[in-house]
Amino acid sequence: MIVKTEGIVLKSFDFRETSRIVTFFTRDYGKVKGVLKGIRKDPRKFASSVDRFSLNDIVYYQYRNSDIHLVSQCDMKDFFAGFRQDLDRMTAASYASELIDTLMPAEEKNDEIYNLVRAFLKTLQTTQDVGKLVHTFQIKILSLSGFKPHLETCVSCNNEVVQAPRFSLRLGGLLCPGCQDAAGEATPISSGAVASILHIQRNTWEGALRLGMAPFIKRELKYILNHFLVFHLERNLRSTRFLS
Ligand SMILES: [Zn+2]
Repeated sequence: MIVKTEGIVLKSFDFRETSRIVTFFTRDYGKVKGVLKGIRKDPRKFASSVDRFSLNDIVYYQYRNSDIHLVSQCDMKDFFAGFRQDLDRMTAASYASELIDTLMPAEEKNDEIYNLVRAFLKTLQTTQDVGKLVHTFQIKILSLSGFKPHLETCVSCNNEVVQAPRFSLRLGGLLCPGCQDAAGEATPISSGAVASILHIQRNTWEGALRLGMAPFIKRELKYILNHFLVFHLERNLRSTRFLS
């Protein structure tokens, strides 16, 4: 079957003498692996250099019995040139694509996550605050992939948490002072950080990005969100430690 869609390049590696295998996150088929035959011998064969994070229109033959399909056309649609010269922004793009590659099962369409990744890459070119953008992306991804932190009430007894909230990575939410944290992994969290996460969860992407975020809140969110994602993905994302 011939398939036409658009896709963001998550990663790629050289294959045999002249080819390249690329993992795309596509709009219509989710995460898809394809081989671009001959691209290294004749780069003009495709109207794209298939750079990481670039957005491309692609056409491929979908093989039924293989998880690698044959890409016949690949045209660059957006290179996102605006963040390529900046190390912090490139690190953030690496982190986001690694997160998507780890989180998404093969060939499972997800409109909301696709649109989120596109919006993230677009905004990454112009944002004044890369840290806030990454945290907003992390919070939205958690909500859309079934790991939304529970912050409205205590995750254990369901009472309102009025003072001394702690965040349990294991239980995925707030603990009140009265509830024990059996594993001892819960970490204190400020009410400002809780309010920031709730605001981002409840608002659109644009609305969430309008939120002001003090440096100490960003430090807290960085610690909690990075650890929470690592905990639930059960592996360390290589790029996490390079995030600023
Ligand atoms: Zn409780």
